[in-house]
Amino acid sequence: MTVTVFKGTLTGKVVAARIRPGRDLLDALEELVRDSGFRNGVIELVGSVRKARLSCYDQARKEYIEFSVDEPLEIVTGLGNVSLKDGKPFVHIHLTLSDESGKCYGGHLVRGTETFVAEVFVSELVMDPPMNRTRDEETGLMLWLPY
Ligand code: ZN
Repeated sequence: MTVTVFKGTLTGKVVAARIRPGRDLLDALEELVRDSGFRNGVIELVGSVRKARLSCYDQARKEYIEFSVDEPLEIVTGLGNVSLKDGKPFVHIHLTLSDESGKCYGGHLVRGTETFVAEVFVSELVMDPPMNRTRDEETGLMLWLPY
């Protein structure tokens, strides 16, 4: 099977939040999700950061390579999801960031990204069973468990 399908419903529960200057972006998003009580969901955000720390997955070595961009950047797009990992909500975010010339950087969000300001929506998804991450041997990643 080439596609794994999970079934669920959009509940209409949505949390909107503004993240304050100086907060670590990933920490703040994890706190928001934890406080919402959502187990599965969709995250979208825009805003800006003072500096960024991102990563890119090296598919051959099966490990994340982290990099920093130490300048103010716009969050052009922030998209991600919430699913369970080890029984707890896990936040997975990818960012596209632009500098003052419009040049873009992108990657998988890790700790070390300092927020300037961010506007965030988290939409809950009620899945049965909940989407749960487990190690996938083919990719080396923690992926949604097929059933
Ligand atoms: Zn990722």
